[in-house]
Amino acid sequence: MSFPELPSLPLLDSCDGCSACCLEIGAPPDYIALLKNSPLADDPSFAEDSARLSQLPDEAARRITRYLSEPAAGGRTPDGPCVWLDADRKRCEFYDWRPSSCRVLETGSPGCRIYRRRQGVDATAERSG
Ligand code: SF4
Ligand code: SF4
Repeated sequence: MSFPELPSLPLLDSCDGCSACCLEIGAPPDYIALLKNSPLADDPSFAEDSARLSQLPDEAARRITRYLSEPAAGGRTPDGPCVWLDADRKRCEFYDWRPSSCRVLETGSPGCRIYRRRQGVDATAERSG
């Protein structure tokens, strides 16, 4: 049995110039989950996020509060760019405060590839690979 030849993908060792996984999530996901469902704070798997959430910089917290109180403010939507994303620089503005979901997504992992493919980040490489 023969398999079709798959296009090669670029090796990934950095998130520089990407931000695909931040473009369709609306806001830092674990903090939104905690704020919408307070009993999660008692779940040990949310302990680190609960601690970070309680100490967020004012601007970071303000954006989350606005996201929750005015979901469509500034064109932001649950499936749009994260409210912490600097879209021009393609970087998280509060990187040190990012929640667990953002920390565990590994560069080049299958999940990362799915985001990149959906956002067209690898499109050129896949076509030419
Ligand atoms: S984890 Fe993947 S999708 Fe997210 S910014 Fe890094 S390279 Fe892009
Ligand atoms: S918190 Fe930062 S890393 Fe996570 S989705 Fe938002 S901009 Fe991206």
